[in-house]
Amino acid sequence: MKTEFSLAQLADPDIKEADKILRACVHCGFCTATCPTYVLLGDELDSPRGRIYLIKEMLEKDAAPTEEVVKHIDRCLSCLACMTTCPSGVNYMHLVDQARVRIERDYRRPLTERALRYLLSLVLPNPKLFRSGMLLARLGRPLAMLLPTPKPSATPTLLRRIKAMLALAPAHLPAPGPSAGTVFAASGARCARVALLQGCAQQVLAPRINEAAVNVLTRHGVEVVLVKDEQCCGALTHHMGRDEDALARARANVTAWTREADRGGLDAILVTTSGCGTVIKDYGYMLREDPAFKGPAARVSALAKDITEYLAGLELQGQMQGGVKAQASAHAGLIVAYHSACSLQHGQKVVSLPKELLSKSGFVVKDVPESHLCCGSAGTYNLLQPDIATRLRDRKLANIASVKPDMIAAGNIGCMMQIAGGTSVPVVHTIELLDWATGGPRPGDKG
Ligand code: SF4
Ligand code: SF4
Repeated sequence: MKTEFSLAQLADPDIKEADKILRACVHCGFCTATCPTYVLLGDELDSPRGRIYLIKEMLEKDAAPTEEVVKHIDRCLSCLACMTTCPSGVNYMHLVDQARVRIERDYRRPLTERALRYLLSLVLPNPKLFRSGMLLARLGRPLAMLLPTPKPSATPTLLRRIKAMLALAPAHLPAPGPSAGTVFAASGARCARVALLQGCAQQVLAPRINEAAVNVLTRHGVEVVLVKDEQCCGALTHHMGRDEDALARARANVTAWTREADRGGLDAILVTTSGCGTVIKDYGYMLREDPAFKGPAARVSALAKDITEYLAGLELQGQMQGGVKAQASAHAGLIVAYHSACSLQHGQKVVSLPKELLSKSGFVVKDVPESHLCCGSAGTYNLLQPDIATRLRDRKLANIASVKPDMIAAGNIGCMMQIAGGTSVPVVHTIELLDWATGGPRPGDKG
């Protein structure tokens, strides 16, 4: 794609990067077929190619984003299915991230919208505030039923969004998990030492996920550290275009993990929420212009791994030749529909490892049809765009139901909450099944 940036514009490293990305696009439109919003809405401007044109024009003109641009960028899930499909290697992620920063900086949203976004960026990354918010939401749920139900729309009202938030609040909140600074010793001889990201929303909604990860890791000789002073990874605010907040969190985490790596050694920084993993793996890029942080951030990104990537390098108990040992276990033969979180399959290109781990452990793993399409969760998307998100969830649920699973597994808490909101089939994290298969409790039996 031909671009028309001036030399002065190209002196800005962000514009230079955008120019490189835009020039890689050959307008072929292959990406439109796998874009969830294009599949649902059928509007070229709600496709990756259409959004790329909008972003190009906005950046070239160096003008404030128009309402039209904001509408179509806001509808993008950042699911990155377009990046998997694109034959030209267009880095849509870095382009849309830049567009969101521009919108946040130069576009004045209506007051209620600004207030809502501010509240989300304040509450979601802070576990204490998030817990209080969830408790309040539970109290507010009966009230929500009295409110009128607005018509579904791809441009939802504030009332519709509030109702969506209240509906997503879980009926019960588990007790908090272990605090930062805790070290879990390896059983037997220690073969490795890792940090485990504590996460923000996940540690409130489902501390059982990291508990399962700690069980599996320590059972296999890995010492696990919950690093002190670690923060939310910044993904939530990064995807809202609040880059200052996201970069401050990235720097704080790089500092905390580097300190821990220098002090006690770290073989990896493990992540059980793939949405966070994608951003941490991108810290090196996000901080590339910061002389003090670019080196340490690249080191952190290189250490970051999804939990399944790390476990694939270990020989897990019960994964004996051909699954012979696994066949005698209680879980053997259980049908698991594996939901491939977008951040894992498109963002990190971790596609088959989780399924292989589950199969080798004795589960019968079923691929979900249309697995490339997002479930609609996408960070804060299901709160800000509830109607598109619900349509995507219902489509996902119908695809999942077609494989008649006993359980649904996913590697991202956002997807788990989104899918669980529409089915009675248990939705668990992949690591919970691996914990069960290697000697831990059956998911749902505790916590
Ligand atoms: S990130 Fe997802 S929703 Fe956004 S343009 Fe790409 S495929 Fe479409
Ligand atoms: S598939 Fe890639 S090259 Fe083709 S239009 Fe989409 S982004 Fe551009």
